Amino acid sequence: MIGNEREMLLDAFDSNWIAPLGPHVNAFEVEFAQRVGTKHAVALSSGTAAIHLALIIAGVEQGDTVITSSFTFAATANAITYAGATPIFIDSESMSWNLDPELVAVALEDGQQAGKLPKAVLAVDIVGQTADYERLQSVCARYGVPIIEDAAEALGASYQGRSAGQFGEMGCFSFNGNKIITTSGGGMLVTDREDWALQARFLATQARDPAPHYEHSHIGYNYRMSNLLAAIGRAQLENLNVHVENRRAIFNRYRDHLGKLPGIELMPEPEGWYSTRWLTILTIDPASFGATTTDVRLALEQENIEARPAWKPMHQQPIFANCKMYGGSVCERLFEQGLCLPSGTSLSEGQQMRVIGIIQSLQSS
Ligand SMILES: *Cc1c(COP(=O)(O)O)cnc(C)c1O
Repeated sequence: MIGNEREMLLDAFDSNWIAPLGPHVNAFEVEFAQRVGTKHAVALSSGTAAIHLALIIAGVEQGDTVITSSFTFAATANAITYAGATPIFIDSESMSWNLDPELVAVALEDGQQAGKLPKAVLAVDIVGQTADYERLQSVCARYGVPIIEDAAEALGASYQGRSAGQFGEMGCFSFNGNKIITTSGGGMLVTDREDWALQARFLATQARDPAPHYEHSHIGYNYRMSNLLAAIGRAQLENLNVHVENRRAIFNRYRDHLGKLPGIELMPEPEGWYSTRWLTILTIDPASFGATTTDVRLALEQENIEARPAWKPMHQQPIFANCKMYGGSVCERLFEQGLCLPSGTSLSEGQQMRVIGIIQSLQSS
């Protein structure tokens, strides 16, 4: 919290709008849509809820398939199963660590041949860097399959000058405690289509049909954001650029001190991309570095510093073991060699230099 969060929260509290509706919810939606550059935004209880509703609105139903990244947080794939569908996983490409458009094309062609096209491509902007949407959009357009953007980690990122969240028919954001901005928990669905925004609000509030009594012709959900949390979100959004710049400064310091060590690579940021650097993940090739990712993680743990392995790909998870997978070598390497370093914006320069010093001391080639 670095700005007006406390004042805004107290304003919401004092107004007695202690409910999943109220003036801060409405204002947060307007300000968020403006910032991301979409016509509409719908404030929800989590990013997972946003993805779930986006899939339902895109027409995903029981028995359908949805294409997504294997290299992602489980929430992405879980939401597909909430809609009754089965994920089809795709490997990352080395350039952006995101969905490989060539493999997406192969999966869509297979679906076409089999007479059952996936209902949507749920593209993830992993650790705050967007997928290659120019290529993805042209592949998906060829098959008429809509893109939904999981931009949970990418608020404030851009691609070819346009903000993350604009690249699908719908975009999904998270305000969980560890995200770029937080409301402690929350999410946002963005879209240019008014009918979809209205449908999202309808489904998020138990799908009450217009009637004086309680009338229901659809299954609904309790997914709306609280007015108290929206107040915090508005104050966080005011400082979005600062939050992103802080994350990028942390990444840049790691890159400056560790990026040239033999065997160490950081996520590339290709020309035209602007990443939030939500997390700094580096990969360690033990043959050139002289120590494995696990060696480094344990050495940090010895000093009471938590570092975590990168996402274990979804196709390697027991619960998704039966799902189709296209490719795999890129994301499998990211898991084997990847390490997420402390990246929270409360990390001081001195603390970060301790992390850097320990990693440098392990290099022995
Ligand atoms: C955090 C996250 C989500 C889920 O957001 P919640 O608000 O925690 O439900 C979905 N996808 C990705 C890629 C995430 O990082």
